[in-house]
Amino acid sequence: MLNSEQTNVDPNEIEKFERMASRWWDPEGEFKPLHQLNPVRANYVDSATPVADKTLIDIGCGGGLLSEAMAQRGAKVSGIDMGEAPLEVAKLHALESGLDIHYQKISAEHFCKENEGQFDIVTCMEMLEHVPDPSSTIKACAALAKDNGSLYFSTLNRTPKSYAFAILGAEYVMKLLPKGTHEYSKFIKPAELCHWIREAGLVVEDVCGMSFNPFNQHFYLAQEAVDVNYLVRAKKVN
Ligand code: SAH
Repeated sequence: MLNSEQTNVDPNEIEKFERMASRWWDPEGEFKPLHQLNPVRANYVDSATPVADKTLIDIGCGGGLLSEAMAQRGAKVSGIDMGEAPLEVAKLHALESGLDIHYQKISAEHFCKENEGQFDIVTCMEMLEHVPDPSSTIKACAALAKDNGSLYFSTLNRTPKSYAFAILGAEYVMKLLPKGTHEYSKFIKPAELCHWIREAGLVVEDVCGMSFNPFNQHFYLAQEAVDVNYLVRAKKVN
């Protein structure tokens, strides 16, 4: 993991999200794919580890889509991100939703120094493909989990299909996302993600694809379909 003098934050990446933050909760805006993914991933988490009354930290929470879904299901949620504007949006939206979520601008590496072993559940979704050193973030996530705690990661696989969908489709054809939102080389293959997760001392429990149905515009869980979006569930065993 990085020491306190170093940072695992790419300012260009943070800047991209700062610029789009005001439209975070617009279901038809730039974050449409996250809105579409949200129910599927929230159910995935809640069905494997019922979140009610659990402490949950959402790493790279952005405007708070997953944080709110988890709080609505009764989790005691904290969210951290390095973007000022996304966090402001998240705080305002939680207020409007009447949800008590503790949001803070801090990196996972710094947050884990004060909060080691504090969380039943750690979520880190659609964020690892935006950090310089994903393995460092994963180690921080591992440190934040309690013994027997569950961790959830999601990202984009590095395949021709993900290039076609997430970059050509979303940025060039649909013009949903500004060009350059995603960098193909930073997409992560499941074997790479699982390697980093194990390296952090965690046990990989499940890898599950999220497939998109273009007709009803819904994502659904499809165990083998990991070629674009996928989730990994891991456990911290003592
Ligand atoms: N997890 C949320 C948001 C995903 S967008 C969701 O799935 O709904 C990616 C988020 O990661 C952005 O809010 C961005 O500001 C944040 N991010 C990128 N690099 C980061 C870093 N190094 N530390 C913390 N947050 C980071």
